[in-house]
Amino acid sequence: MKLPRIKILALGGTIATRPDASGAMQMGLGAEDLVAAVPALATLAAIDAETVSRVGSHSLGFDQIHALAARIAGLDADGVIVTQGTDTLEETAFLLDLLLDRDIPVIVTAAMRNPALTSPDGPGNLLAAVRVACDPWVRAHARALGVMAVMLDEVYAAADVLKVHPTRFNAFAAPQTGPLAALVEDRVVPLSLPVRDAVTHARARIGDVAGAREQPVALLWMGLDEPGFLLQAMLDHRDKLGYRGVVLGAMGGGHVPERIAPLVTQLACMLPTIVSPRAGGGPMLRQTYGGPSSEIALRKAGLIWGGRVHPLKARVLLETCLRAGLGRDTIAEVFDPFG
Ligand code: ASP
Repeated sequence: MKLPRIKILALGGTIATRPDASGAMQMGLGAEDLVAAVPALATLAAIDAETVSRVGSHSLGFDQIHALAARIAGLDADGVIVTQGTDTLEETAFLLDLLLDRDIPVIVTAAMRNPALTSPDGPGNLLAAVRVACDPWVRAHARALGVMAVMLDEVYAAADVLKVHPTRFNAFAAPQTGPLAALVEDRVVPLSLPVRDAVTHARARIGDVAGAREQPVALLWMGLDEPGFLLQAMLDHRDKLGYRGVVLGAMGGGHVPERIAPLVTQLACMLPTIVSPRAGGGPMLRQTYGGPSSEIALRKAGLIWGGRVHPLKARVLLETCLRAGLGRDTIAEVFDPFG
């Protein structure tokens, strides 16, 4: 039987580190090293491995992920695995999901424990990712599943996966929806298919953004008694600061402190401004509370409702919309189906 052809593209991250003379972990391993550490891969797939970069994911750029998406779009393979750092995996996977429309499995994986530690998780995660990419159910539903993340024997949808802990082994979860599949023994056990209407709708509106320029988006987390100095600076120095859009990590069902409601509404007149749930998921309210900083007032004032999209992912989606040259009203249409 012919084995599936799986392309592994390595970006860097903890999975690809090795100790320097002082014992500190540095980027160093390439795709070939990652594959060599897992001999069992050869029993599952015909592997073709390539080192794309040796960068920690905390330092990856939007442009690098756009270039990666273009590369994946043109690949002749039965499945693609991206290895990278964990720090921004929830964002890069979502961006790839917005950019790619392929009918083969595209999976992002990483490691929490570096190769110098006892029981590093990189080799197991890579093996699991390849196993998922080769699985008949996954291959049959590849387009419906979209880009996936595989961590610690669970498979997550790119739109839902979050890094929920900075250090522990089980650092990834999809708190709103749960995993799409689980790995046990040598099997992939399907659990659910993601509801992808909003992502599909967004992708249709975004279209081809190849060659488009970076569109900086600010992410401002709303905390107790936020005084709004940064919002004021954005209003006063818009051109100097260079932000093209703003995501507010808003309180509760879509609220900000009343003292900054006038600033927030002025900002929404100037730049596309998304209200996204700082609780990490949604949907948020639309028509329950009154008052100057309630969801009713903010929506009336032109704030764009981010629905259930986590603020980090809302920033990715807004940046992509702005690259596509979409205006405020179309951006609102893109976010609307997310709840
Ligand atoms: N800082 C690392 C990175 O994101 C952490 C990791 O890979 O887990 O590249």
